[in-house]
Amino acid sequence: MNNHWSPTTRAITAGRQGQGASLNAPLWPTTAWQSEGVDATRKLATKQRPDEFYGRYGNPTVRAFEQAIAELEGTDDALALASGMGALATAVLALCSPGDHIVAQRAMFGGTVSFLAGPCARFGIEVTWVDGSTASAFADAVRPGRTMLVIAESPNNPRAELIDVEAFGAISGPFTMLDSTLATPVAQRPAEHGVDLVWHSATKGICGHNDALLGVLAGEAELLDTIWSYSVLHGATASPFDAANALRGLRTLPVRYRTQSATATLLADALRTHPGVVAVHHPSLSDHPHHELARRQLDVLPTVLAIDVGSLDAARATVANLRLARNATSLGGPETLVSHSATSTHVGLTPEEREQAGITAGLLRISVGLEDAADLLADLGQAIDAAAG
Ligand SMILES: *Cc1c(COP(=O)(O)O)cnc(C)c1O
Repeated sequence: MNNHWSPTTRAITAGRQGQGASLNAPLWPTTAWQSEGVDATRKLATKQRPDEFYGRYGNPTVRAFEQAIAELEGTDDALALASGMGALATAVLALCSPGDHIVAQRAMFGGTVSFLAGPCARFGIEVTWVDGSTASAFADAVRPGRTMLVIAESPNNPRAELIDVEAFGAISGPFTMLDSTLATPVAQRPAEHGVDLVWHSATKGICGHNDALLGVLAGEAELLDTIWSYSVLHGATASPFDAANALRGLRTLPVRYRTQSATATLLADALRTHPGVVAVHHPSLSDHPHHELARRQLDVLPTVLAIDVGSLDAARATVANLRLARNATSLGGPETLVSHSATSTHVGLTPEEREQAGITAGLLRISVGLEDAADLLADLGQAIDAAAG
């Protein structure tokens, strides 16, 4: 690996070991490999992360994707799982036992909050929720000897707020785990700041075409081996088909991300003065709470923004009047997607949890796609006008 190459170049060069002269990683749609005999099988069954044994243990196509992510994040290794949530559940249950403690940011993806508040509590894993906007909040909540994990998301869903990744990575004792889905390795590489586990829903920007469900963790090989050992029992195994699609998507990630970010910045600026819009949340705006931090911490600003159209009724009408942007609940793909956070990604939260996460009734998340910026602005403008009129 050439460490001095920029992520843009590494997106093209990464993850090409063991594919011979083929430009693309071969797809291995198999669940089992024939063994050379009893002794060879014994070796594979007791080895860490064998690629050619049984599909739940590993797969060469998935391995190529993992190697590409490790190269892009600048980590020792990576581990792919069946989805972003599969990666979270596997990591938490691999590392935490009843009586252990987790420190978690309050304003994260709805599924993350629901997993930590639901199953974790049921299994006797205690969670302390903190406000991620105070840099010391995470470290202050750590209970030495009891806290196993500190989990945060930056930039977060849906308001693109940031935590101080430098301070987060410096926490000693528990493992730090950062959901970097909205940044992708193009905008930030948290392991460079000491974060132990960089976590992505690769379903989103990394794959980037809405055709693969995939999660990935990047970090030290030893820690990932521990999580892998548990993953074989948990079974949230990544599909080789999804890994092949994600590798294909990864090649164009930097160019997609930069274009989507530029359009998001343009839309944020233009919608700020639109009469039907009460608030716009994007770090490019000087009144965003993390405008300065984003400049220091991110190489490229997020591709997601949120607008508040004032009420649930206005949100419903805006969504109903869209002609180009689509109403769907994902992000990072080529199509611009608008979703009403309170009734979709964050519907599982209590009203108090939603309020604490800043999910107002009129909040719409816009995941900017690859359409022309002027066409998108015209579409959003007419939909908001129709809702207000
Ligand atoms: C979608 C998403 C997840 C969950 O990932 P899946 O691949 O849908 O399981 C986690 N975190 C963030 C920020 C997400 O956007």
